[in-house]
Amino acid sequence: MNITRAKEILKHQFGYDSFRMNQEAAIEAVLEKKDAVVLMPTGGGKSLCYQIPALMLDGLTVVVSPLIALMKDQVDALVNNGVNAAFLNSSQSNQEQIEVFQRIKSGDLKLLYVAPERLLQSGEQFIDFLESINVSLFAIDEAHCISSWGHDFRPEYIQLGKLKRYFPEIPIIALTATADKLVRKDIFERLNITRAELFISSFNRPNIYYSVEQKRGSFEKLLDFLEPRREESGIIYCLSRASTESLAMDLKDEGFSALPYHAGLTRETRQKNQELFLNDDVKIIVATIAFGMGIDKSNVRFVVHMDLPKNVESYYQETGRAGRDGLESRALLFFSWGDVIKLKGFAEIENNQQQSEIMLKKLNQMGEYGDLKSCRRRFLLKYFDENLNKDCAHCDNCDTDFEKFDGTVIAQKALSAVARTDQKMGLTYLVDFLRGSKSQKIWDSHKNLKTYGVGADISKDDWFEYFRDLIQQGFLAQTESQFPAIVLTETSLDVLKGERKVELYKITEKKEEKLSLVGQQAPPYEKPLFDELKTLRTALARKENVPPYVIFSDAALIEMATYLPLSTADMLKISGVGDVKMSKYGTEFLAIIARYTEKNELSSKIGLKSKRREPKTRIKRNVSGESTYSISYKMFKDGKSVADIARERGFAVSTIENHLAKFIETGELSVNDLVSEEKIEAIRSAVIECGDDGGLSKIKEKLGENFTYGEIRAVIADFMSNYAAA
Ligand code: ADP
Ligand code: ZN
Repeated sequence: MNITRAKEILKHQFGYDSFRMNQEAAIEAVLEKKDAVVLMPTGGGKSLCYQIPALMLDGLTVVVSPLIALMKDQVDALVNNGVNAAFLNSSQSNQEQIEVFQRIKSGDLKLLYVAPERLLQSGEQFIDFLESINVSLFAIDEAHCISSWGHDFRPEYIQLGKLKRYFPEIPIIALTATADKLVRKDIFERLNITRAELFISSFNRPNIYYSVEQKRGSFEKLLDFLEPRREESGIIYCLSRASTESLAMDLKDEGFSALPYHAGLTRETRQKNQELFLNDDVKIIVATIAFGMGIDKSNVRFVVHMDLPKNVESYYQETGRAGRDGLESRALLFFSWGDVIKLKGFAEIENNQQQSEIMLKKLNQMGEYGDLKSCRRRFLLKYFDENLNKDCAHCDNCDTDFEKFDGTVIAQKALSAVARTDQKMGLTYLVDFLRGSKSQKIWDSHKNLKTYGVGADISKDDWFEYFRDLIQQGFLAQTESQFPAIVLTETSLDVLKGERKVELYKITEKKEEKLSLVGQQAPPYEKPLFDELKTLRTALARKENVPPYVIFSDAALIEMATYLPLSTADMLKISGVGDVKMSKYGTEFLAIIARYTEKNELSSKIGLKSKRREPKTRIKRNVSGESTYSISYKMFKDGKSVADIARERGFAVSTIENHLAKFIETGELSVNDLVSEEKIEAIRSAVIECGDDGGLSKIKEKLGENFTYGEIRAVIADFMSNYAAA
């Protein structure tokens, strides 16, 4: 009975045909006044688990949510579906807050969003107030914030434990996308809901395609990745604030619409950038992890990590921000073991051996993912204790054939190169050495060694792969310093003496990414119509001052452009169109569809729409032309100065310096071409002194006026080229 009513609300108020995953079960529990803990992946549909009960229960549902910035959007989205919802937070004027209180008292509100600190303010006035009204349910969103094991601990959440004491009769529903067992235990205990029912949904996100690329040359690879996605929204995560800014700049130079986001920007800038992104006015946000918790933008088509995240939980949560609308999306990670080593420094927690060990273990698991040769999805789900019974066929590794071969001779060459150069050199140097590079970087004394040049028949990239493989298998190791050297291990000698065979992975080109497997049967959608519908959506969103997805999601528009609804009844069959949205916007969208179908002599295909299948967008293929980098490089090789190139190409000098730095990294340019010998020495010592933290600006500060960022970058690039980690 209850559930029939819940389904009616799902259809009429929210426009959806069926419940997903554990939504139904969780709603049922709450309606029976039981406490519930809901673990569902990002985009799974946690909100409906409390929004639907809120509409069915008598009284007010109080939603605790950590992010003030998000509340307005959440409330706008509800109001747009005809739900009486409001929020209370510090961004509002007194008058606005008074109005909200009045609406609560009059019993008109069904949902109230508040921040935890607001709920449990000093003096507990607010609790007193809630005791004086009829509260039907507490919903604790992002409940993992209560656990110090989690990646996003917020001390204010601890206070929420009091709720059960004050309101023992009122059910609590706690929701999170983090499934870690320790976190889960904390949620039950700290919220005092030890007898709550637990609802765990599959964490699989079938519409996300996972892939990993080697970090070397990541910027160029990124450009190749982004080129066919110019019209799509995405998030690019970087480890440091400085790199978010410089990457956003570089992408802008390449004509992409990109803005940075990190905690060091002013509140206004952050808010502005976030809003531009939410409203589709800027396509790419280049961010530190400060960005995105709870970002409720459904049409994020890709999430890229330029640097390694600290653990698999964070990675999964961050990539989970892609494809909430169920459409085909991408998660791309640029990986190097060097990042693992770099992050080890951060994983150490002073005076807490136990926690440090957990962090290190998690970091290593993240490294394992980066280096994985088997199904990525399987690995990720296994991490969350979920077993996939077969490979997913929808990740880069599933699309690659891995074969092994007898690589003993290759291994011997590599190992002896390490031995002959006294175990002092970095990976790139060794590869250049093996390939007999004529570069000035190679020490003269090394050029006389027998091993010099014995690996010239193998490409640079392949050598990198083989070294990685040898390290993985323990035949070599990498020292743990900022500029790690490759060293021998106990097993090395056996190989060198010919007493042990080594199998290596055959290197095969990654297959062209396959078209989406999930949505092949859906008929193609009318792109021009989709664009027209988007324009209308943008106009409406502007008028109402809400993000576009609050009107209709991309998925809903694509359905419209696929099935061409021509009547109100047709329109209500589109996923995401409920009664309220139909009456608010239906006519305008129908009018555009009608005009379009008439002009193009099409008829409605709504009959083809089966209930469950959602149409998927297709991945476009990659077309890469000559990169902007190589253009700058060629001009430089032709004898032009950096300043000349900058002027001719209409770029900033720093951009050109950046371009050239890449060629220093690859050894195609020498750092001496750009920076004088004395300066190189000074910069080197500053870099070593500053280490990894603080980034360029700190190094620059140390060096002073006479040094440019470009010079510093060039020297670092040279460093990297000799010591790049596997
Ligand atoms: P979460 O909070 O778990 O990350 P949301 O509650 O924001 O996810 O839901 C993600 C998207 O999925 C929203 O656009 C929501 O409207 C949609 N959604 C939720 N439940 C359903 C359903 N049963 N059918 C179709 N779409 C749904
Ligand atoms: Zn797979």
